[in-house]
Amino acid sequence: MEKHDVVIVGAGPAGLKAAEVLAGAGKDVLVLEKNDVVGPKVCAGGISLKCKKLRIPVNLFERSFNSFRLLRSHHNIVVKYNKTVGYTIDRAVLGTYMKNKATDNGVAIRTSSRVTSVTKEYVVYSGKKIKYDYLIGADGSISTVRKYLNVPTNKIDIGIQYIVNQESNYAMGCFDHKIFGSGYVWIFPYKNTFSVGTCAKLGTKNIPKLRKKLDSWCKKRGIDLKGAEFQAATINYDYQGFKFGNIFLVGDAAGLAFGFSGEGIYSAILSGQIAAQSIIDKNYDYNKDISKLLKHKRLQESVLPFLEQEHIGPILFEFLGVGLRTRLGREIFLKFFA
Ligand SMILES: Cc1cc2nc3c(=O)[nH]c(=O)nc-3n(C[C@H](O)[C@H](O)[C@H](O)COP(=O)(O)OP(=O)(O)OC[C@H]3O[C@@H](n4cnc5c(N)ncnc54)[C@H](O)[C@@H]3O)c2cc1C
Repeated sequence: MEKHDVVIVGAGPAGLKAAEVLAGAGKDVLVLEKNDVVGPKVCAGGISLKCKKLRIPVNLFERSFNSFRLLRSHHNIVVKYNKTVGYTIDRAVLGTYMKNKATDNGVAIRTSSRVTSVTKEYVVYSGKKIKYDYLIGADGSISTVRKYLNVPTNKIDIGIQYIVNQESNYAMGCFDHKIFGSGYVWIFPYKNTFSVGTCAKLGTKNIPKLRKKLDSWCKKRGIDLKGAEFQAATINYDYQGFKFGNIFLVGDAAGLAFGFSGEGIYSAILSGQIAAQSIIDKNYDYNKDISKLLKHKRLQESVLPFLEQEHIGPILFEFLGVGLRTRLGREIFLKFFA
């Protein structure tokens, strides 16, 4: 039976980072990816300041911004900083960059290779069994590896967005509790297009309902959706563990996305790197680095139960609108999100 030191399921940012680091340390790594192309993924591509640590080359970014617009019933403010506070990236560009770094280190990536089952010794794709010493589940928010480990997923959002074929000169967040509850509407600008989207708890009827709300919000704001591509995907933020014997869960498969903002690229890359280091160095204490990541995630998610309450949510959003008019408020907001 074919065998590798490490088999990674999924060639998203989490899987590719783990692969690059492991192969760089001399491990024999195979990545199995169900799609025929590495990179493209339903995602707004927003990159926060903390991603600076990940050293993504600046020339890959679509846009950078030092301000954003905050909309709320009677607030329409431009929140300005004297430094860059965010970027956007095209996921196909990020995917190609990360894939090249991994393959340069000797990683084998097999596309069109959906893993259909997992056992404690091997994984199966296209009827073929592949043995592993270590397995990394980097297969996103509906993870086959997580399912095999019997890890439940209760906190999962659906994110929807339109890619509008027009330029936007600003990034935006709109908090309207009456329409979107604890969710928000974003605008993320790219070179010639922009994403307008929102998130909500996943439910069977949610997508059409949420889409209708977003359509009507866009109409009111004069955003023409004619010809815009509609996209939807899940975001798992239900973290239940990272290491399960010789199996790791990373990125969305581990539920490491941030529940309020929906940001997940940062956690994906960082957790991929932490899993790789754990395999390379037996003395490495992964707990310290995972705890640091979880601390920020949990701080952000701590507001969710309040925002979800009909009477408290609007007050908190109001507080945010007023707070962002002050310098201290803007700094706290930045720490909280970025
Ligand atoms: C609408 C929307 C907007 C978002 N906006 C942002 C944003 O602005 N900023 C941000 O940071 N995050 C954002 N996110 C979240 C972000 O997209 C994810 O957190 C991130 O992609 C997670 O990376 P990952 O590598 O863990 O998983 P993924 O990027 O999902 O990669 C998983 C890979 O595994 C593959 N795969 C899945 N199952 C199998 C299988 N059985 N066999 C083989 N391969 C498999 C998939 O094809 C995929 O390539 C958004 C998400 C959504 C839905």
